[in-house]
Amino acid sequence: MEDLYKILQCDPQSSEEDIRQSYLRLALLYHPDKFQTNDGTSFVKIQRAYQVLSDPTLRKEFDVRWKDRCLIQDLPIQEEVEFSDFEFDEENRLYIYLCRCGSEYAVTEMDARLRYDIVCCETCSLTIRVLYDELPSGGASCDGKQGPSQNSDSADNDNVSS
Ligand SMILES: [Zn+2]
Repeated sequence: MEDLYKILQCDPQSSEEDIRQSYLRLALLYHPDKFQTNDGTSFVKIQRAYQVLSDPTLRKEFDVRWKDRCLIQDLPIQEEVEFSDFEFDEENRLYIYLCRCGSEYAVTEMDARLRYDIVCCETCSLTIRVLYDELPSGGASCDGKQGPSQNSDSADNDNVSS
């Protein structure tokens, strides 16, 4: 999980307008059309960060998780697990990965959307790091590629193209 404020060169105290101005400046600076040596990664990151921070609900969710993560980031990581190895539990709307203790690690849809990466077992004290897909290079057409199931409903997946 990355600090989205840092990507947008803002901080948690920044106003919506500050964030917007910063986004516009950076998007222009890193636009793949203007900056030929750029593989698009920075641009995609900037867009993704702005998608979250420009939405008051998502921003709040991100703030909460970022605070949590700062508290637990020093825990020893037992294992690194690809997000695609999680199973989606339709009933509880959770992504599940089994812990060796028999219990499970659970990632909510919002966690996944915000790429929350340090997850504690629900029962024992083991902790894993979730590895989300690398950012695709060369453009912003990245949505729909995330998550273990390619053709699940994408009802709340906003498209980047705007
Ligand atoms: Zn466990």
